Amino acid sequence: MERYEQFIAACQKIIGTQYVLLSDTDKSPFLTDWSKRFTGSAIAVLKPKTTTEVAALVALCNQENVAIIPQGGNTGLCGGATPTSADNNIVISTTRLNQIRDIDLDNSTMTVEAGAILSQVQDAALTAGKLFPLSLAAEGSCTIGGNLGTNAGGVQVLRYGNTRDLCLGIEVVTPSGEILNSLRGLRKDNTGYSLKDLYIGSEGTLGIITAATLKLYPLPQSKVTSLVALNNIHSTTKLIDLARKRCNADLTAFELISGRALSLVAEKAKNLGSILTNSSAWVVLIEFSSMEQEKGNREQLETLLNEAYELNFISDAVIANSIQQSKELWSLRESIPEGQLPLGTTVKHDISMPISKIADFIEATEIALKELWPNMETIVFGHLGDGNLHYNLAPLSPDLSSEIEQRRKSINELVHNQVYQYSGSFSAEHGIGQAKRDELPRRKSPVEIELMRAIKKALDPKNIMNPGKVL
Ligand SMILES: Cc1cc2nc3c(=O)[nH]c(=O)nc-3n(C[C@H](O)[C@H](O)[C@H](O)COP(=O)(O)OP(=O)(O)OC[C@H]3O[C@@H](n4cnc5c(N)ncnc54)[C@H](O)[C@@H]3O)c2cc1C
Repeated sequence: MERYEQFIAACQKIIGTQYVLLSDTDKSPFLTDWSKRFTGSAIAVLKPKTTTEVAALVALCNQENVAIIPQGGNTGLCGGATPTSADNNIVISTTRLNQIRDIDLDNSTMTVEAGAILSQVQDAALTAGKLFPLSLAAEGSCTIGGNLGTNAGGVQVLRYGNTRDLCLGIEVVTPSGEILNSLRGLRKDNTGYSLKDLYIGSEGTLGIITAATLKLYPLPQSKVTSLVALNNIHSTTKLIDLARKRCNADLTAFELISGRALSLVAEKAKNLGSILTNSSAWVVLIEFSSMEQEKGNREQLETLLNEAYELNFISDAVIANSIQQSKELWSLRESIPEGQLPLGTTVKHDISMPISKIADFIEATEIALKELWPNMETIVFGHLGDGNLHYNLAPLSPDLSSEIEQRRKSINELVHNQVYQYSGSFSAEHGIGQAKRDELPRRKSPVEIELMRAIKKALDPKNIMNPGKVL
């Protein structure tokens, strides 16, 4: 610590003593990730309020060779925002850098600072009569900077795209402490390399995003939500295809939930009747949004479900009768990540593949996993419309947690091999962080890895931005 006394004093001068956290108690919430799998250490946690303060801190770290770990809401699921155990780390938390700078209704954009919480950004858009469509279960805690850092997906990617698709410009502090500003809100700007796209999804390894200009959309007039029991997993692609053909409204969500995953949140679903008592092996949560009144939207959904029933794709369905019931259906889906906590250690995968291959993948991988170790079960849910599954393995009893932990490597190997056999990716929306870093060079071509390393070296030659993550 003595080694960093002058450094700490300089940080205190830049942002004020109370925003340089030094005690173990103050630092502790910033040093462990959401899943409690990774813990690291840091000289201090710094909480700047402005972009200029961030730039001054980064320039200082560059000069002193101090490693910077950018952190937003700390809800990331790959340990990307958690420091390693190195002794020269500081965490820069963006939580005070949280202003909504501007809402431009004529151009349908808003400019917000990186530490703004996603739900606050959604609310600010709503108050202005617009929709900011990024939506995920962690939206009450995650930040726009973290969403951009991970290129987060969520439940409306099917209609509006992921965070990259929703961002028109960013402001970034580079590893040398310079400020790059592209907050012009242009929808067309082909002026050389897209640096914005390079920073989005770079998980804090190339700089700190301090603000972003985001796209806004008209608010839909109506939404209808339905929970549908599938006859079997092979019906999913047929149902999604039929839904696209039959409905004028936009298909905004198509979420798959296995019967086992649903059972973890069954307490919340007592009022949903037969669909749950029939204990279907697979259900999907479907949502349509429309600029038309609810009546027409609802009639189309009913017609679709009747046809799907006649065609033997589905066995049962409930359509939410009220906004409250729709929220209950969504709450089922969103509670699954936490619903897994009592199961003990789970080995999680965030994978994607062409949706036409998902059913075959699920069947083949289930068999292969049972052969590897029969004492585990699959908990599967995810954004099926985007070909993205959260494919998790839990021990049959929490007592077997240490045994599943011992098998983590071989389970990952098996699941990821299967994913690649079905033309997929081992990281769909959560990123690489620390959790999947070693896997990256094994799954990407040498050319891709070489180019990524060259970019990192060119932009951050001293390797001070989030070292030990991604590459
Ligand atoms: C219950 C739950 C549900 C989730 N559901 C989804 C989901 O549906 N879809 C999905 O994509 N993710 C999901 N996540 C993962 C997580 O919420 C997202 O990755 C989110 O985008 C992280 O935001 P954050 O502010 O918490 O970032 P953090 O966890 O703080 O950071 C994540 C990464 O971004 C970097 N970073 C943070 N801020 C900045 C910045 N200002 N500039 C540069 N880099 C930065 C960090 O260094 C780190 O590498 C879920 C998480 C939980 C706990």
